[in-house]
Amino acid sequence: MPDRTTRASRPLSAARSFALVLLTGVIAVAGCARESGEPTAAPRPAPEPAAMVDADEHSFAQPGKVAIDDLALDLALDFDARTLAGTATYTLQWKDDAATRLVLDTRELTVERVEGQAGDAWQPLEFSLAEADPVLGRKLVIETPQRNAKVRVTYRTAPGASGLQWLTPEMTEGKQLPFMFSQSQQIHARSWVPLQDTPQVRYTYSARVRTRPDVMVLMSADNDPQAARDGDYAFSMPQRIPSYLMAIAAGDLVFKPISARSGVWAEPSMVDRAVAEFADTEKMIAATEALYGPYRWERYDLLVLPPSFPFGGMENPRLSFITPTVIVGDKSLVSLIAHELAHSWSGNLVTFSSARHGWLNEGMTSYVENRIVESLYGEEFSDMEWVIARDALKRDIVDMPEATQALAIRPGTPVDADDALSQVSYDKGAWFLQFLEERFGREVFDPFLRGYFDHFAFQSIPTETFLAYAKEHLFDPNPGKVTDAEIEQWIYGAGIPADAPQVLSPRLGIVDSARLGWRGSKQLPPTSITGPWTTQEWLHFLEGMPETLPVEDLAQLDTAYAFTGTANGEIAMRWYPLAIRSGYTPAMEAAAAFIERIGRRKLIIPVYEALVTTEPGLALARASFERARPGYHPITTASVEKVIAEAKSAPAPATAPDAEPAPGDAADSATGDAPTMPTDPASPPAG
Ligand SMILES: [Zn+2]
Repeated sequence: MPDRTTRASRPLSAARSFALVLLTGVIAVAGCARESGEPTAAPRPAPEPAAMVDADEHSFAQPGKVAIDDLALDLALDFDARTLAGTATYTLQWKDDAATRLVLDTRELTVERVEGQAGDAWQPLEFSLAEADPVLGRKLVIETPQRNAKVRVTYRTAPGASGLQWLTPEMTEGKQLPFMFSQSQQIHARSWVPLQDTPQVRYTYSARVRTRPDVMVLMSADNDPQAARDGDYAFSMPQRIPSYLMAIAAGDLVFKPISARSGVWAEPSMVDRAVAEFADTEKMIAATEALYGPYRWERYDLLVLPPSFPFGGMENPRLSFITPTVIVGDKSLVSLIAHELAHSWSGNLVTFSSARHGWLNEGMTSYVENRIVESLYGEEFSDMEWVIARDALKRDIVDMPEATQALAIRPGTPVDADDALSQVSYDKGAWFLQFLEERFGREVFDPFLRGYFDHFAFQSIPTETFLAYAKEHLFDPNPGKVTDAEIEQWIYGAGIPADAPQVLSPRLGIVDSARLGWRGSKQLPPTSITGPWTTQEWLHFLEGMPETLPVEDLAQLDTAYAFTGTANGEIAMRWYPLAIRSGYTPAMEAAAAFIERIGRRKLIIPVYEALVTTEPGLALARASFERARPGYHPITTASVEKVIAEAKSAPAPATAPDAEPAPGDAADSATGDAPTMPTDPASPPAG
């Protein structure tokens, strides 16, 4: 999964909010008409039971009428034109006898031709592309009066496709060959393949991709570690996946194994470091299988992307896409791998039916991630991760609109597909599962969860289906453990329930004491205390600081711990905003270099947010953005543009860079998404 959305990037942009309000308005009106506009003579029909089929407002597709059963791609990948061009052939499953149209989602695609198979021949089909919707893209309606078993679309992508990023050789580690990669979640697959772009449709796929012969191509499919690099590649994905798990990458990529079924794809200069960093991957797979049953996707490989990858990781099946910012030399950030791996059960195997049920993917995965981390690195360590994530959630949830504080978002509440997966989905979702674990005990809860993954394997479900299954297999067989009211409060209520399990971390308690002691006395804690600190402890040390500190205090910390210039992005994303808000100018140059080098949204947005609160900072943010922009992913570019635009529309007092920031700004937007692990005790804290 991509990084959880921070508070800062959560609000909908005006255009998107408006479009979603319109969209949900249409749904609401349709629903109300039955209530108010019935002909008086006709008997009123009985109200329909609550639908278990979830409507996906982020797709035009009508999978109840016809669904894609298999997709076959034949594409040319052109680095000069920045396009994918070719055909998508769908094997269709017609469900509604009256259906004579196939409706697909597209965004910025040029559709050249549509044909239907009739016997051995392909015959042209009529089609139309609707006006572009700012959120959903363009609806492609294909007339299929013959209800063809196969339909073929000839198309090409736009150079600015929202789901693809094209990098010049200079933007890569090796600087020899160009690079491209996709990010389809949540609704960007439609910008590179015409699809029923909703998690409610699962299909198998195959692909043939041709490109320049010196470039390797990989997909979320059966990548062959021994594949010859020749510019002509074939892929097959025999397990059914939803569209947001479509993935492709191409570049100077080489493979090194971690185990018989796992390995790393990366640029040649990065691959050895990556294999060393992720050496525990096979142990993680084995630990997860012991808890939740067999890994069902055959190989599990990691693809290390350039620094511009906008997220921490993306759980593309068989091939997780991973940010290079977690390769810091000490394995301190590899619980990100536990997270992406966990998605092989929660998310990829059992999938939410729409982004309204984000917690079914991300909360479940964050819970499994913590169990994997506990299994490999111990409870003391996994408890630190719980505490750090929950501190951030508690800090941020109070500012969220009440409707978005619920785990399952009720229909009628506008949701931006890119922002639906907030901290609530991740951290409140995981907290709910830990609540169930605590009430029922692991001896009951672990087999329940394993049974859930088995029962709904390769299906996409809404929250209500999870609850019905839990009632039958967990709540009813173990009466008196939870009440309906408690479950209702967790799933549909705002805030954190009062009976949420509390985790204490003695190790973070020591950090609190050290910080308090320093703030009172200006005496830094002895190195016998800080020497063994892990990344988690340093994050907690920084997160407990006030909004601003005197510059001499920051200088003292910086001299002792070398925070400025740190190679650890998790520390950087906390240190630079504090330094900027406090007017600590020695950190400015390094802060600018950091946001220009890295494109991972979670790490750099807090720095931008701190910068734009003053006029000089805003100027610096603009200058850095100008320089960095060619290397940023469209998703990151959009987020940075929003921060800068909102700063312009609501200017802070324009004074010196050490001005007090408005309360409640960037400080809190650093999320607790700190996928981390113990550092080598001997390693320097900030490196
Ligand atoms: Zn995730």
